[in-house]
Amino acid sequence: MMNQRPYQICSNCIMDTSDSGIVFDSRGWCDYCNNFHDNILPNWHTDQRGEAELMRIADEIKRAGRGRDHDCLLGISGGVDSSYLAYVAKEKMGLRPLVFHTDAGWNSQQAVHNVERIVEGLGLDLHTEVVNWEEMKDLQLAFFKAQVPHLDTPQDHAFFAALYKFAIEHGFKYILNGGNYSTECVNEPSEWHYHASDLRQLKDIHRRFGTRPLKSFPLCDIFTYRVYYRYVKGLQVVRPLNYVPYVKQQAMQMLIERFGWQPYAHKHYESRFTRFYEGYWLPTKFGYDKRRAHFSSLILTGQMTRAEALERIAKPAYDPETIDQDFEYIATKLDISVDELRALHRGPNKTYRDYENNMALIQVGSWIMKTLGLERAIKR
Ligand SMILES: [Zn+2]
Repeated sequence: MMNQRPYQICSNCIMDTSDSGIVFDSRGWCDYCNNFHDNILPNWHTDQRGEAELMRIADEIKRAGRGRDHDCLLGISGGVDSSYLAYVAKEKMGLRPLVFHTDAGWNSQQAVHNVERIVEGLGLDLHTEVVNWEEMKDLQLAFFKAQVPHLDTPQDHAFFAALYKFAIEHGFKYILNGGNYSTECVNEPSEWHYHASDLRQLKDIHRRFGTRPLKSFPLCDIFTYRVYYRYVKGLQVVRPLNYVPYVKQQAMQMLIERFGWQPYAHKHYESRFTRFYEGYWLPTKFGYDKRRAHFSSLILTGQMTRAEALERIAKPAYDPETIDQDFEYIATKLDISVDELRALHRGPNKTYRDYENNMALIQVGSWIMKTLGLERAIKR
């Protein structure tokens, strides 16, 4: 929601009023910082206590997977979190995961390389799900035309829906997820990054702006997986990275040395679409810079200083010389002209509220999760 609020930036991290719901205390600390110290830190154990808990979980997973080829499903993008997760699952937890990769058409060369290196290096099995590109393209264009900030929804939705559907169809009881407090304790507000799992919103935008039916595109509603899959089908999601020391730079260094893994410029930039969208489209069209949340997470977990974060955020994430190239790449892949893509960039901005959505129900769900202590990060 656009408001007339004066600009303010947190005195501890670098979150600011570009998140219109942010609240500051008398010291100038934001609610993400206070939530980190009050709710996350006291419940986050990466010492022997965390390790013991992780081993207990590993035993449960092994028991559930007895007699099966694989005891759990592990989603991988080729980024640092999911790559390190594969290492932890195999080497620390002693699991036999089936590594699951969804190719939604935007993989960078590094992403493909990294998935191969990790799978081979750890001796794991890989299943790759390829999303029908004609449908993906149609849905992606519909989101561009809807003028919403969350253009990453088609890709993110495909990633998680394909994974969950496969898990249910093949009787898996556990999904390992690379989500973690270390690099994500400051969540991007839904204003910047709306819930990709809100199927009602996805369908409404596609109904208005899409041109072909989604026949094979993986679709899964947030309530289906949060309630039906979890409590009726017994499918559990585990986040192992929250139980081990996870320092991003060290993890990357290990992956490079041990597996020949290739680093990329910033979080999520293993997808060429995401690099363009988060690095250029979102900051220049909407004023939302996701690095603000990513860097703030690293500040709170002692992996970056506030001064360094301020210095880096002052420069664009994007190399100005490659903007034209990427405009052409994205437009060509979407079968539109560069001029059409530029016209979309100039179009009037909308929000998720301009389309049908399940935000009210999602907020009730988030409140329940938070009250039960199942989710500790701020979600708004
Ligand atoms: Zn803060």
